Amino acid sequence: MSAPNPPPLFSSAAGFPEAPRPLPSQGLFRLLQSSPLDRLPGHHHTTHFADLTDPPDLYASIAAAASDPPESDMHPSDADLTPHEQDLRFTGDLYTPKWVRGHGNKREGWCGLCKPGRWLVLKNSAFWYDKSFTHGVSAATGAAFAGPRETRRTEGNLDVWEGLCGGCGDWVPLVSSKKKGTTWFRHAYKCHTHPKVKDTPKRRREAS
Ligand SMILES: [Zn+2]
Ligand SMILES: [Zn+2]
Repeated sequence: MSAPNPPPLFSSAAGFPEAPRPLPSQGLFRLLQSSPLDRLPGHHHTTHFADLTDPPDLYASIAAAASDPPESDMHPSDADLTPHEQDLRFTGDLYTPKWVRGHGNKREGWCGLCKPGRWLVLKNSAFWYDKSFTHGVSAATGAAFAGPRETRRTEGNLDVWEGLCGGCGDWVPLVSSKKKGTTWFRHAYKCHTHPKVKDTPKRRREAS
């Protein structure tokens, strides 16, 4: 089976550096523990999937604190590349880069949500693409795209999770191994930023 994310054991150890790290042997034990369930009597065939991955945490990257550029980037030999701090549009604006450097087509914004953080070109949409589809942050609002109302495993492909979209009522895959970026965010960008207008006139008429 292919897991879209690293095993939770390792991601939680990385997310909470203060917590005691499990020994590698303990981790292996936990991995082995889940599989003998399959062989227990009285289980339906569906329990074969009991040890599949949990739904992906789409918003893990924005739940963590954003990093600033490393000290080594702060005093480059090329003075044009010196990072400048800029104002956000509002407190809690997750989109606008706090740090920018360079000029014109080479102007870059710092994404401190990436781990490790990195500079991304602003003019060619690299920055926009990363914020929108990797982190799920809307350029228009500076806030995260709405998450799914509900999640479930995809029928016929139980390794893949899908979410119920509050905008259109469709079930949409959360992640895909085929495309870069997060499928849910791609959908949310189209569906939530540019809502279909087909329902609007009817509702207005009903209301009046
Ligand atoms: Zn990023
Ligand atoms: Zn939708």
